[in-house]
Amino acid sequence: MWITSGPGRARDLCVLALAAAMAATACATGTGGPARSRERAAEPSSASPSSPSASRGGGAGLSVEYRHAGEGERWARDFLRDRKLPQEVARHLNGQLDAPTAVRLRARSCGSSDISYDPVGKRVDVCYEFVDEVRAMFADAGRTDVEERTAGVVRETLYHEVAHALLGQLDLPYVGREEDVADQFAAYELLPQGRRGSAALLAAADNYALYAEEAGPDGVDLSGEHTPDAARSANYRCYLYGSAPATHERLVDGTHLSEDRAELCVDEYGDLERGWKKLLAPYAAGKRTGHRS
Ligand SMILES: [Zn+2]
Repeated sequence: MWITSGPGRARDLCVLALAAAMAATACATGTGGPARSRERAAEPSSASPSSPSASRGGGAGLSVEYRHAGEGERWARDFLRDRKLPQEVARHLNGQLDAPTAVRLRARSCGSSDISYDPVGKRVDVCYEFVDEVRAMFADAGRTDVEERTAGVVRETLYHEVAHALLGQLDLPYVGREEDVADQFAAYELLPQGRRGSAALLAAADNYALYAEEAGPDGVDLSGEHTPDAARSANYRCYLYGSAPATHERLVDGTHLSEDRAELCVDEYGDLERGWKKLLAPYAAGKRTGHRS
């Protein structure tokens, strides 16, 4: 059964997959708007063994695998591989967590622009097409530092997808929509990483804003499972501002982030930080650094 997210950025969608008598929830992340929908199903779990090429061996069980890229996708494959983006996320979380989880980050050609988490196969499919589409959006919008922004979106999205895996595999309790909780996990992991982590979250916020612009006001699905793209963009800006108001004061521009909302952001960031820290405390591999106690 598909639950599609309709028009708008729809970078995420959830699929209700039935495996044997068990129901499992899979969330896929892809970008897409009215003009370029990228929703697709997470593929059924493959029984074939994989050959992870890197980054296995940590306490969260994250591993990385690269698969063949078509001729038009080699830039994206090389981009991921040269920058070691999946490896970086895997290494970070493997070092941070000691949890009975297994998540394979699998870079591959998909035939569509997605990143998806398959709870049956316990893998995140990082589609080369997704990487290329994000790069093209930034380039078309005339942004500077296109590759850095693209890398930031990839990192943010990987953390988002791994959040689905952690929530499901560890049966973590939460309230609110899972997609929002997964976004908050990305902020929770990225913002303590300093300037580079902040840049990644801001790139993701910008990317959401671009999809919102592309969809226009008529393309917003208020009944979808995901918070609308413009609001997801504002949420990330809020978390970033809330993590260090004096540093990120310029984010309160009255357009992407209002002054009224900004007044709440320190508390919002504190709440998500406290929530995720408490959820993961039983699985902490060591003392976390960079987070307030
Ligand atoms: Zn998601």
